[in-house]
Amino acid sequence: VNRSDIHYFGAGPAPLPTAVLEKASSVLLNYKDKGIGLCEISHRSPEANEILEDAKKALSTLLDIPEDYEVLFLQSGGTGEFSAVVYNLVSIWVEKKRAKIAAELSSSSDSEEAKKAEVVNRLRKVVDEELKLDYLVTGSWSLKASQEAARLVGAKHVNIAADSRQVNNGKFGNIPAESEWKLTPRGSGGPALVYFCDNETVDGVEFPAFPQSLEGDDAPLVCADMSSNFISRKVDVRKYAVIFGGAQKNIGNTGIAIAIIRKSLLPPISTPATPDLMRELNLSVGPIVLDYPTIAKNNSLYNTLPIFDVWIAGQVMAGLVDTYGVKKIGGQEEISNDKARMIYDTLDKYPDVYRVVPDKSVRSRMNICFRVHGGDSEKEKAFLAGAEKHGLLGLKGHRSVGGIRASNYNAVSIEGAKCLVTYLEEYAKA
Ligand code: PLP
Repeated sequence: VNRSDIHYFGAGPAPLPTAVLEKASSVLLNYKDKGIGLCEISHRSPEANEILEDAKKALSTLLDIPEDYEVLFLQSGGTGEFSAVVYNLVSIWVEKKRAKIAAELSSSSDSEEAKKAEVVNRLRKVVDEELKLDYLVTGSWSLKASQEAARLVGAKHVNIAADSRQVNNGKFGNIPAESEWKLTPRGSGGPALVYFCDNETVDGVEFPAFPQSLEGDDAPLVCADMSSNFISRKVDVRKYAVIFGGAQKNIGNTGIAIAIIRKSLLPPISTPATPDLMRELNLSVGPIVLDYPTIAKNNSLYNTLPIFDVWIAGQVMAGLVDTYGVKKIGGQEEISNDKARMIYDTLDKYPDVYRVVPDKSVRSRMNICFRVHGGDSEKEKAFLAGAEKHGLLGLKGHRSVGGIRASNYNAVSIEGAKCLVTYLEEYAKA
């Protein structure tokens, strides 16, 4: 079977542009006529540095990333970042509280040692009573992220500010109205972070826009998982403390994650609490490879970075920069929207055959989840078998929810979306 004969709608790893893969096969053998391939050269070589800088530049151009944000390349996968945001932001929150208490005690006549002990005493109480991490649970991935936070800092510190299952008969598929969210009040300290998953890959739910309740000058530190809708629409980066995502859906191949971090969260502006203090407070100390200050200080090269993966991501992003010019990621957004609209319109046209799973207001442009004949498993099997015969692969829904899922990532062409539409029509009419 030729690549050109199929259209792949898998949820990730996902397709890559053929031209990039063709170039990749040659750079794997011989990079820039050095007689050695890209997987074989040092991640600290000038060539590797250039690749890293080019990838950063392409991402910054596409998303208009402001100067006061840092781009990091990591090997954590999306899942590793569930832990990283907790370690890093809790430690900053603790240090802020420590500094405040230390300042309050600075004029006391007690010995330095006694003051230090008193800081830890008071801090323990503050952590116990005030440490909160807000999670908006709108699907399987934000649920997993919230569970990881509970594992790391203890469930009592994790505030589930919203849970979609409560407004959708115990299932994911909608987002509660913002007026219903129970966010930790802003003001003195506020939550250590507010977390949401911008696009829920398994459940086909996407935030239509940045939540209004997280706006404002005193906005809490917002962390967003964009693993499955990274570089598919415009993003106002300034509204976020951390944006992260695995590369393997819209950006590149499996092996790297990318994080965009507000520089004011890094030294010298923000200092994390010391590991000793965190231990004294019974809070976990993160592994060094998840430590944002360390990775930033080392330009993402604290340890061996898979430069080939960064090269692929850089090629994909540079391709988008060339294609869309001044429209930047807005150009890709229009195409993603058009493809998604085409598919949803066809599904909606045949309500006796297809049922889109999530509510219309939160339908993902990236992962289109639907049932065939009310979820009849034999009929869904037959639907998938028929799709394969048409060269439409990867349409099976996630094993936890079943059904059909058409992932509409950037590398799915308009032609691919049209082929799917043709099949949907044919199947429904038959
Ligand atoms: N977040 C989202 C939205 C995902 O879709 C996935 C994986 O599919 C992950 C996180 C986990 O990413 P990884 O497998 O790279 O750890």
